Amino acid sequence: ATPAAVTLRPPVETGGDGPLPVLGADVRVPAGAGTRTYAALDYAASAPVLRRVWEDVAEYAPWYGSVHRGAGHLSQLSTDLFERSRATVADFLGCRPDDDVVFTRSTTDSLALLAAVLPAGTRVFVFASEHHAVLLPWRGRAVTWLDVPRSPQEAVALLDHALDGAPEGPKLVCVTGASNVTGELWPVAELAAVAHRHGARIALDAAQLAPHHPVDIGALDVDYAAFSGHKLYAPFGAGVLAGRADWLREAEPYLAGGGASRSVVRGADGTVGARWHTSAARHEAGSPNVIGAYAIASACRALTEAGADRLVAREQRLLDRLRAGLARLPQVRVLSLFGADAPRVGVVSFTVSGWSCREFATALADEYGIGVRDGLFCAHPLLRALLGADAVAPGACGGAPEEGELGAVRVSFGAGTPCG
Ligand code: PLP
Repeated sequence: ATPAAVTLRPPVETGGDGPLPVLGADVRVPAGAGTRTYAALDYAASAPVLRRVWEDVAEYAPWYGSVHRGAGHLSQLSTDLFERSRATVADFLGCRPDDDVVFTRSTTDSLALLAAVLPAGTRVFVFASEHHAVLLPWRGRAVTWLDVPRSPQEAVALLDHALDGAPEGPKLVCVTGASNVTGELWPVAELAAVAHRHGARIALDAAQLAPHHPVDIGALDVDYAAFSGHKLYAPFGAGVLAGRADWLREAEPYLAGGGASRSVVRGADGTVGARWHTSAARHEAGSPNVIGAYAIASACRALTEAGADRLVAREQRLLDRLRAGLARLPQVRVLSLFGADAPRVGVVSFTVSGWSCREFATALADEYGIGVRDGLFCAHPLLRALLGADAVAPGACGGAPEEGELGAVRVSFGAGTPCG
């Protein structure tokens, strides 16, 4: 078999209502007095890898080689798979024909790339409620922070108002599609319409949206979208930035080096002159992560074949059960910006009175073999807004809360979670 056969595998099982098979679903861990099957409920940090993705990667692994490196068979084969992976991702995201799809390391890397290619003088607009990956890349540029909104309508109004009063010049709005803290969906299409009415571009952080919900760049009318493979049921190490080609192709490469350059010459005065590719390769210098790209494409295919409607429906059932169960516990306070009825993905954060988030998460792990996230979720300003100004002391992101530092417990799940 050659890797070309990989894409000819039969579709994933779409019948029935079962979870998509994931790695680690049968791992047993110590819990209480014995052992239990591990319940991975931290998909929002990193989702388990789909078995199908692992099998595709294993089938390709003996064949892999560096892409765009000449006539050698393995390089040719890998180049073909790399570029087909790009096309698969473009389809998955509903890209416009002239959009670029750049393979990066992660969402954080994708947004840092976008920050690096902004035209001079671009003003960036972000809500304070964003993940740090959205808040931080624009440091050193003009940034307008918008208040944490308490409804989707307020989010749209806040952006409208801020753009109304903004000085002339290029503008970029960067917004999440689904919150990594509350799971709530953001009014992306409405925000995009407002951004465009004011001549701004808009980038979508789809890190938490894409694993749960179809993302259609064209239908939402966003200019860019970013996501991470490791949250989309593929392994670590690869991500995507997709969108308008012009800024990407006009800017200096994000990383200078082989692969990004078409020609390099040494000038008479000793300086180095380079001409860069005018394609996605411009920002993929070095030997790109072809296995990571292939794994992302495999995950995109598996999710598409399983059917977005079916996956969304089963996740909503899980969400309803979880929320109904939590509602019966008077000690539990579920965190929300937009209210109990707001549409959301399978990400729920809560506090438990009388418990620190670390104590509660540790008890779930030790007693029941349930793995959840606790802490501040790399969204300190949002946690401050949800829990109170004093609730979030400066401290580690993801580490154990420091003394006096609070946080919440987060349960998150997805296509691999049993729903029975
Ligand atoms: N955006 C959101 C909403 C996230 O939840 C995360 C990760 O948790 C990121 C961006 C950053 O993703 P990565 O760590 O894969 O770069």
